[in-house]
Amino acid sequence: MDYKALAERLLPGNYPDLQSYEAKYPPRDLPEKAEVTRLAPSPTGFIHLGNLFAAIANERVAHRSGGILYLRIEDTDLKRKVDGAVEAVKNALHYFDIDFDEGAEIGGDETYGPWYQRQRAEIYRAFVKHLIEEGRAYPCFCTEEELTALREEQTAKKETTGYYGKYAKCRDLSEEEIYRNLDEGKPFVIRLRSLGDPSNKIKFRDAVKGEITVTENDQDVVILKSDGIPTYHFAHAIDDHFMRTTLVIRGEEWLASLPIHLELFDALGFKRPRYGHNCSLMKQDGETRRKLSKRKDPELSLEFYRKEGYYARAVKVYILTLLNSNFEEWYLKNPDADLNEFPFKVEKMSKSGTLFDLDKLKDISKNELSKLSAEEMLDFLKAWADEYGTDAQRGYFADREKMLRVLTLCMGIGGKKRRKDFTTASQAMQFIEYFFERPASYEDYRFGAEERRGILRDFLACYDPADDAQVWFSKLKQIASAHGFAAEMKDYKAAPENFKGSVSDVAEILRIATTGKANTPDLWTIQQILGEEETRARVGEAISAQA
Ligand code: GLU
Repeated sequence: MDYKALAERLLPGNYPDLQSYEAKYPPRDLPEKAEVTRLAPSPTGFIHLGNLFAAIANERVAHRSGGILYLRIEDTDLKRKVDGAVEAVKNALHYFDIDFDEGAEIGGDETYGPWYQRQRAEIYRAFVKHLIEEGRAYPCFCTEEELTALREEQTAKKETTGYYGKYAKCRDLSEEEIYRNLDEGKPFVIRLRSLGDPSNKIKFRDAVKGEITVTENDQDVVILKSDGIPTYHFAHAIDDHFMRTTLVIRGEEWLASLPIHLELFDALGFKRPRYGHNCSLMKQDGETRRKLSKRKDPELSLEFYRKEGYYARAVKVYILTLLNSNFEEWYLKNPDADLNEFPFKVEKMSKSGTLFDLDKLKDISKNELSKLSAEEMLDFLKAWADEYGTDAQRGYFADREKMLRVLTLCMGIGGKKRRKDFTTASQAMQFIEYFFERPASYEDYRFGAEERRGILRDFLACYDPADDAQVWFSKLKQIASAHGFAAEMKDYKAAPENFKGSVSDVAEILRIATTGKANTPDLWTIQQILGEEETRARVGEAISAQA
């Protein structure tokens, strides 16, 4: 068969000499060990936790080695395109301190762009044409119906599905048949003529998993679709080569495509990048471990962390703990260090399933947040509220001084020990709600309405906002005595049967009346922050409330 003539018929016109692309996209001028890594999402805008794991690994490897991290948009499948997706991906990653050096909507060195695959049509076609000329690719005229029938037949026979070997109907069409189909104007795709044999097992060195065995590809995969757009597999091989990618860290779900990718690189005569496949994220579900699922587990979506207001550094600390076995030890020694100082290593990545535990992340979050200053906490909460909070919550920031006092108190700043009550921004905003809103309900007072009202009335009678904490407390003691509660804890402990309760129960009643809650930081300070008018109004409301 005259493959050259066939190539000309299928993809007419002059394409640049293939070597010219080598010159156009020259090897990068980087230090010897520098790694060029990438993220190559499709433009759905959905990016999940697994992508974040891969992104952190790729980013760390690139930047620790003096290399490049770039963003390529794999938009060969238009059905999956969502407006604003690239911005969404960039923002989602930026939140976790992952910034690209080059790529779609980034700017930077344009040498290796464009970064949208749809804008790179010519180069893909040039290489497809070359493969046809070499007899390594051929036109396939099978219709959707024929392919469905084939799949059904294979499934019924319990055979591997796909277009391969004896099932690859168009692989060996005669020259006449091909030209007749073309003359009839039948639509066609271009398929790779695979030379692989699935009985061959190849040893492959995965950068993460170490040595693994993969089955040689024998699928005649589509490389160019009928609309002249390449498939992901083909475009990714061309792009990783000409964007001079040295290492691809991606999710384990791509391992199944690896044999195809290996064959494509070989067919194109390109040196392969190194591949590292990151383990799937697992979740403990009762007795069993299962993969995190998009349907069942909201924590798989990165949006979840933004909406809940997880602190980016905490998420990163947890992911690094799971990504590199020696990170935890380093972090314990360097709890406040810039995370970028950690000597991240691909070789230390986990080789088997990674258990993702939201409770562990929460513990890390509490700890990380407890290290912030009141100003830093304010900035963090405000940024969250601006994007995800309610109007009322945004209003909490109107009085900056008040907010700083609230946070100073709630975080235990200046006290003996930092409090660790904040886990996420949304939870912290709820936690501090009572400083800004009157209680809508009251936690259980534990004492009868008459008792409680009497105590609260007595408080209002003697309350003076000019009292310091000690004077304020001595007044509570007097109220305690007057109502049959022990003024001193030691008296109560010695003979509880002689009292209705102690001064701490009196304080609890006042606390619930003021905040709605039985547990809060120091009540005197809370009343100081609320001010006289608000304190009186709240205690007054609590006296008349039914609860
Ligand atoms: N476009 C693929 C994705 O959506 C990229 C896979 C790869 O990294 O090779 O994740």
